[in-house]
Amino acid sequence: NTTREAIMAAISDTKSAAGQDVDTAAVRKLDSAHFIHPFTDHAALADKGARVMVRGEGVYLWDSDGNKIMDGMSGLWCVNVGYGRTSISQAVYRQMETLPFYNSFFNTTNLPAVQLATLLADLAPPSFKHVFFTSSGSEANDTNVRMVRRYWDLLGYKDRHTIIGRINGYHGSTVAGAALGGMSGMHAQGGMIPGVAHIGQPNYAESGRGMTEAEFGIVAAGWLEEKILELGPEKVAAFIGEPVQGAGGVIIPPSTYWPEIQRICDKYEILLIADEVITGFGRLGAMFGSELMQIKPDLITFAKGVTSGYVPLGGVLVGSRVASVLIDKGGDFNHGFTYSGHPVSCAAALENLRIIQDEKLVSAVAVDTGPYLRQAFCALASHPLVSHPDACGFVAGLNLVKKKADAVYDCEPFGSDDGVGMICRGHMFNNGIIMRAVGDRMIIAPPLVMTKVQIDEMVGRIRDALDATLADLR
Ligand code: PLP
Repeated sequence: NTTREAIMAAISDTKSAAGQDVDTAAVRKLDSAHFIHPFTDHAALADKGARVMVRGEGVYLWDSDGNKIMDGMSGLWCVNVGYGRTSISQAVYRQMETLPFYNSFFNTTNLPAVQLATLLADLAPPSFKHVFFTSSGSEANDTNVRMVRRYWDLLGYKDRHTIIGRINGYHGSTVAGAALGGMSGMHAQGGMIPGVAHIGQPNYAESGRGMTEAEFGIVAAGWLEEKILELGPEKVAAFIGEPVQGAGGVIIPPSTYWPEIQRICDKYEILLIADEVITGFGRLGAMFGSELMQIKPDLITFAKGVTSGYVPLGGVLVGSRVASVLIDKGGDFNHGFTYSGHPVSCAAALENLRIIQDEKLVSAVAVDTGPYLRQAFCALASHPLVSHPDACGFVAGLNLVKKKADAVYDCEPFGSDDGVGMICRGHMFNNGIIMRAVGDRMIIAPPLVMTKVQIDEMVGRIRDALDATLADLR
């Protein structure tokens, strides 16, 4: 109980909350006793104890043991403008003082929500003039499911309800989000909604044997047409995909893939949903990944980078094709969340987007720091463990392999029980860099504010951690 009181007191004491006096062992004990973490094996966590993060500044984090760590993952793909932006906390504070909450049901609105909706209509591709707000990417994808089904119902196509997603795609953890996604671990635990089908992912390393990347892009997009024909075009409502798959392991599709997907969607008149929860707001060096991939989606899911994760906010950008039916013919759309258009979240987003625009972060990723990161990261190809590193804007990934080969699909992988990715992830942390492991694929998505000097530091730390991993395996 003494520990409990001390920890509770620490939360209201800024010095302690910043980690200077924290009893890490005690925090870990309470954490494991009370806090169920997302995607976590709790028995394993109780043995090891959680890492306690206490502070962030720019691209760096500090844990309660005093370690300074470079955040190669922007929190969870979201802290685009970096940590410690006082102007965002001030915007949040001002809004909390003025109007901390009011709902947007029952013909009511609030100033930050209107301002943000207007700004998003300016920033989004030309056919997007409307936005529906949620608190997360998962809720936004649930909204997509209800919106596309409502759209087809209003047009009189009551059977057109199936949505096609991709194996290894990630669209969130709500019931519909998990069903749209193609994560085998999530599907194995059940509870999915009906009316969702999946096709393979455009993963050249996995399925591209014997083809050029360009040829493979067309083949992988063709799986969509095969699935539409198998289900019957009159049953298919929409296709959903991330411009670059993130949680699935930074799978950068061949340049031929998305234009062909667009062609197929157009041919069968099915709606195209771009899940831009990761790729929105500059991550790929364009305001939206759809622009880079040269597609014209009907709906765009966003979250994460819209507030740089400072407070929760997500939503759906609704293109004119859907908006014209939903709004002009739809009457009430019986869907919404208490926090849809939350004034504090919207105030944070407005300030965050001001920073992204004023600091020209999107063009930096497109033409300056992005190409620099790509070059520095791809130089890791010389490391004996690394095959085919690749980057797109500020996401990048490399494969850890047992034996290298010229073609990515000819490399010899480690056994799945060897846990090389996890070993490497541990060394990354010990070398002061956070990198995520998806199997034996190591990925990064650093804050968009990372400088060239910091990119050099990051890649140096990654190389040291790769050396340590190699030493472990010998
Ligand atoms: N869609 C994509 C592409 C994501 O990467 C994520 C989260 O990582 C989500 C949806 C779900 O967003 P949230 O965790 O905010 O519900």
